[in-house]
Amino acid sequence: MTQPLLSVKKLVKRFPVKGGLLRRTVDHVHAVSGVSFDLQAGETLGLVGESGCGKSTTGRLILRLIEPTSGEVNFEGRDVTALDHEKLGDLRRDMQIIFQDPFASLNPRMTVGSIIAEALIIHKLARTAREREDRVVELLETVGLNADHMRRFPHEFSGGQRQRIGIARALAVKPKLVICDEPVSALDVSIQAQVVNLLEDLQEKFGLTFLFIAHDLSVVEHISDRVAVMYLGRIVEIASARDLYTNPLHPYTEALLSAVPIPDPTVKRQRIMLKGDVPSPLRPPSGCHFHTRCPIANAGQCRSEVPELREVSPGHWVSCHLRG
Ligand code: SF4
Repeated sequence: MTQPLLSVKKLVKRFPVKGGLLRRTVDHVHAVSGVSFDLQAGETLGLVGESGCGKSTTGRLILRLIEPTSGEVNFEGRDVTALDHEKLGDLRRDMQIIFQDPFASLNPRMTVGSIIAEALIIHKLARTAREREDRVVELLETVGLNADHMRRFPHEFSGGQRQRIGIARALAVKPKLVICDEPVSALDVSIQAQVVNLLEDLQEKFGLTFLFIAHDLSVVEHISDRVAVMYLGRIVEIASARDLYTNPLHPYTEALLSAVPIPDPTVKRQRIMLKGDVPSPLRPPSGCHFHTRCPIANAGQCRSEVPELREVSPGHWVSCHLRG
């Protein structure tokens, strides 16, 4: 196996909670608790879990949009967490993000052309205004829009078109890694597939590597080579997409998978309804974080011991005392 493009090791993020008159730190939100994974060049890793599980925070930590509490992020062998401001700026050319909300992530006062050209200016990627305009048109056409769109404002576009603009902006700097942070969650179901197909085409055309964050397994099924499932700040299972969808081992993955619709009406899958809500990341449960909702939890080990993420078959890792 070659050196991974991205290697994340024991990444931790705790957000302080301030309180009292003096606004002292009184507690911590345990957003990400020791997340590790590798991503090979050209690969797509789906990162899935319910809202608040830490998946978007993980994406932002990788880009250092927020600073990790501890852990390592290596990109092409360089430790991202140790880079100074200038080197981090250079690295941001290689690592881009597409945000969930195309409505909020585009400046409403800028034309689409200026939004896309901004990245070209910051990274000095076009020598003249003419060259810049040509590149903006090229990018718009790459994502299925056209030259006329560059003089319009974001509010003149549909949700799907705005997400295409966000994708064009990310591609402007010719990145190697794109973190897709729930890029289709805010879109109509009919549009979601178009945007996912576009991302797949762009990956093939430009050799991109994707970390594709989503809150349900149906969205990432076709685009992912491997899938990691997160629960309350930890990865609980990671495997090839085929293994994970046909042979899920963690009870949480099973529950998420039971909610994925099956296109064949003759195949019936029983829905697993989990009891209760996701516990607060302020006070994660002891032992296995999932024990308060797990249908097969025992009263001993599950409550007292944190299960290790173990490789139970080649490339298939699970964190459960009773499975694998
Ligand atoms: Fe359930 Fe125990 Fe496995 Fe956690 S370790 S998933 S509580 S069986």
